Amino acid sequence: MSFNEGVSTCKRKGGKQMNLFSDSNVKKKKRDSQSPITREKRYALVSFRELPEYMKDNEFILNYYRVNWPLKEAFFSGLRWHNETLNVWTHFLGFVLFLGLTVANLMEVPRVADLLGFFTRSMPISGDTNVSQDFNDFHAAGTTKLIDLQQITPSEMDRGSGYNGVAEWPFFVFLGGSMFCLLSSSICHLFSCHSHSTSLFLLRIDYVGITIMIITSFFPPIYYIFQCDSNWHYAYLGGITIMGLFTVVTLLSPKLSTGKFRGFRALLFSSMGLFGIVPAIHALIVNWSNPNRNMVLGYELAMAFFYLTGAGFYVSRIPERLKPGWFDLAGHSHQIFHVLVVMGALAHYGATLMILDWRNNIGCQRNIVV
Ligand SMILES: [Zn+2]
Repeated sequence: MSFNEGVSTCKRKGGKQMNLFSDSNVKKKKRDSQSPITREKRYALVSFRELPEYMKDNEFILNYYRVNWPLKEAFFSGLRWHNETLNVWTHFLGFVLFLGLTVANLMEVPRVADLLGFFTRSMPISGDTNVSQDFNDFHAAGTTKLIDLQQITPSEMDRGSGYNGVAEWPFFVFLGGSMFCLLSSSICHLFSCHSHSTSLFLLRIDYVGITIMIITSFFPPIYYIFQCDSNWHYAYLGGITIMGLFTVVTLLSPKLSTGKFRGFRALLFSSMGLFGIVPAIHALIVNWSNPNRNMVLGYELAMAFFYLTGAGFYVSRIPERLKPGWFDLAGHSHQIFHVLVVMGALAHYGATLMILDWRNNIGCQRNIVV
């Protein structure tokens, strides 16, 4: 409703028009009615053409942008429809999911930690289950001499107790890294519309978050698989950390945060992920006799598929490129990329659970590492 519609008029007998309100009343009316309307205009969503240069990132998303909104308005815009709403929520819900999994693992709630039984684990953690099969499999393969798992009491079998002295911190480092990435991404999408400087700062935090998630994802598999030979820890974890530092330092340059360097950023992150091929092949050789090898490999391949497909959407900007304006609110590439990142992290979580249980099963000293 426009402001002028609020002022009523009537006609005198002589046909002369007269305001129903005195001048002061009209002014008061103007003051009262102007503020909400002005506010509404001020925080209206705008089109791509109206954006300041620093916000022109994706020319295939035509409408529903927020520009230079105060932090408070930006915060509450999480509950409004605009072209970042689903970007905020996809990663915020991912953060909540991983927070729940972290709490479930800390409190040792197995069903929840297994994501309500979705992930198959190498060793049931219930004490009344026969766990000697793994032992026999490993022993029969002749690669390891294992402790007698049947001597382990049910209470010791609780994964949280670390009965083989297996540290759980690498597992929680991965969960922490994932939560940091998902939350910083969500915050970045919510508040980047505030100002150019805020946008640059949050984008850097977002890139740091992605880098931390990739680095911390390496911790559990490398730590547990090569637990018996710390040299490999240093080699692989050192290697990925150096790559991560290089990535962060490179992306601190504001120029590299622009849309023009979208492909370059995806290449940097993908290279970090692909670095994992080296320890993965090494791990396959080490664990060739592990009966759960293929299962773990399947999860990790699923993770690689989700991440690389996500990177593909991120760079190609499909489907909005095909029908500009159609996917402004829902279904554009960045939202698909977000969902695939959460799915990739979940696949890695499943693999990590199995690797941790496997290491808990066989201990360390007696496992031969080539
Ligand atoms: Zn994002």
